[in-house]
Order: sequence, then structure tokens, then C-alpha cells
Amino acid sequence: MLLHIDMDAFFASVEQQINPALRGKPVIVGSRDKKYHTVVAAASYEAKAYGIKSGMSSYEALKVCPHAEFVACDSAKYTYVSREIFNLLHDFSPFVEHSTIDEFDLEVDGLEPHFGSFLDLGKLIKKRIREAFGLGCSVGIAPTWILAKLGTKIRKPDGLILINDANLDALLQGLPVEKICGIGPALTAHLQGLGVFNCDQLKAIPQKILINNFGRSTGHWLYAVLRTYENLSYDKTILAPRTQNLEPKSIGHSYTLPRETNNRETIFAWLRMLSEMVAERARNSDFTGHTVSLWLSSKNDSLIRQRTYQLPTNDGWEIFARARAVFSQKKGHFWPIRALGVTLSGLIFNSTPPLLTEQKRREALLGAIDHINAKYGDWTLSPAILAQIKH
Ligand SMILES: [Mg+2]
Repeated sequence: MLLHIDMDAFFASVEQQINPALRGKPVIVGSRDKKYHTVVAAASYEAKAYGIKSGMSSYEALKVCPHAEFVACDSAKYTYVSREIFNLLHDFSPFVEHSTIDEFDLEVDGLEPHFGSFLDLGKLIKKRIREAFGLGCSVGIAPTWILAKLGTKIRKPDGLILINDANLDALLQGLPVEKICGIGPALTAHLQGLGVFNCDQLKAIPQKILINNFGRSTGHWLYAVLRTYENLSYDKTILAPRTQNLEPKSIGHSYTLPRETNNRETIFAWLRMLSEMVAERARNSDFTGHTVSLWLSSKNDSLIRQRTYQLPTNDGWEIFARARAVFSQKKGHFWPIRALGVTLSGLIFNSTPPLLTEQKRREALLGAIDHINAKYGDWTLSPAILAQIKH
């Protein structure tokens, strides 16, 4: 079984936790420090009550809720808290995966007897996160990752649900297909064109027909995605949960933007943050890597470009500089961008990273600690406890 955790309104809740004056108030976290000229990166539940959503312009949001508190996105804070939650989760399972900044996966097979039931375990995890950080989260427990993730989506905020064969079909009844992670706008439109709007309709379609309409791999996936392993008669790796790989081939993080953007500055800011998250994981597990890959996704297309460097690195700024070089090299037009990811591969265990002085020299040459860095702080994660983080 897999236990998926999705933090509720993560960025806004962290801000409220660090600054008690923001608690109980509508809070808008802007993706940059321009109160009336930015995009809402996150909104507290009090702000969501006014209809404010991620991806809205801040101008629009402040029009519907003029007294909302505005805070600029401070990624270093969120990365720090995210890592602390990750550490806490190791008390519950040796297999914890941290795939996006506010989502975590735990492999919980065999842990049931220690905690009473899977639901008791979910309750305890929620309680511990609340006690340690003052943050709420939603928990979905299911035999596959997709169903566990669906669980958090349909019960958010402060949700807790166990999905298995006993309740699965009832939950899928009337549920729009786009609620399933991986069924994006193009696939939704294709399904709707065939008269399939809800998950129960999708589940009723024979595998053969799905393969005829969507091709072998997507057809298989669409068939498998609404089922538990017990009901799959073929290759089960298609829905393999993302458990921790002890000897990773690569370390990557990705992020889906609140909305499509044509803005290079926004893209670079997120590349910076993702690079920092990748670097931190690499350092924690004693890896450096030679190859930096960049993944970009627009509405109907995606591309991966990579470049291998002679010197391996696990430095966040260096990974960012390399990802940005890869970005600048890409040929053709690839806007607007919807999602992006940074991956470090060609990993070497326990190697000595290049000398700091060498990095400093290169930084000076490139003159590239730029406006993004100035805006987002120096990215040094202080070892202070959460309560001591300055705001
Ligand atoms: Mg979340």
C-alpha cells in the first residue's frame, strides 16, 4: 500500500505559521515581490473562500479581497520546511519519496500491525505534522500511486481516505476523468469526444477498445489507472508506486506552474528553486552528477534536453547555471510553458565536488548571480528551527 501526503495550501500555510499575524486571515503568496503585478502562487484557505486561486493575477485577487495580506514567495523557506517534514516521515517508513515540494509518498506495506490500521497510521501522521509544524495535510492510502493521489485530491483539505476494492467504484461514480493525475486537457478532450466524461464511464470500456482509440501504451494505462493491482492481469509495473530507490540513476524535481507563462524570468526563478531542491537531495545522499537535464512541457508537447559536463556537481547554483544553459540552447519556439523539471544524472557516489574557489571564480566570470537571486534570497538554508525563521 502507498500513502500519499499532499500539504494543504502549503506556501500560504507556512507563511501563516511563521508569522502568527497572518493566521486566520486571507493570505496571497505572490510568485514575485510586486503586489499588484504578479501571479498568485498560493492562497490560504481564508483567501480561497473569496474564490482566489493559484494562477490568478494578484491584481484580480486583490480586487475581490482588498484586505488580503500579500507575501512574496520565499522558496528557501518552503524548501526548508519540506525537508523537515521529509525527515519526520522517516519515523514511519524507511521508504519515503519526496517528489514535489509539498507532496510525499510512503510505502506502508507491512506497517499496519504497528499502528492498528492504515487509517490509524494516516491519522497519526497528520497529527505529528500538525504538532511539529502547525500545518495541515491530506492523506490518501491506496494500492497504487494514482489512486492514493486521487484520494488526497477528492478529500482536501485535512482529508484522510483509504481507497481499496470495497469503495473504489462508488468513489469513481460521476467523478470527472480530469481528476485523475495524468489525464490532462488533451486526453480529457479526446475522451469527451468519445462520450466519456466520468471515471465510471471510462472504467466500463473494454481494454481492447481503449487500445484501438488511444494506442497501445495510453490505452493500457487508461485501463489500468482506475484499477487496483489485484484486478490487473498484465504488467503491473505500469502503475509502480514511486518508492525510494536506494541507488538512484538520477535525482529530479519538477513543478507544474499555476498557469502557462511566456515569462523567462518566471521560468528562471522556478529553475533556480528546482535546482536547489535537486542539489540538496544529491548532497544528502552523497552524490554528485555530470549531466543536467531540463524537461519542459507546454500545452500539447514536452521536450527533454540534457548536457554532460566534465566536472560533476551537487551545487544548486551550478545546476541552475547548467539548466539555464541547456534552456538557452533549445532550438525553436516552446512557449508558453506549463510545467518544468530539472534532473541530475551521471551520478557518482561519495565523490568530492569541485573546489569552491573554482566555482567562485566562474561565478565572478559569468557575473551571473542575477536579479533572480537578489529577489529570492541567497538560498542558504539555515539550520534554525522553523520558529526561528525570520520573515
Ligand atoms: Mg498541496
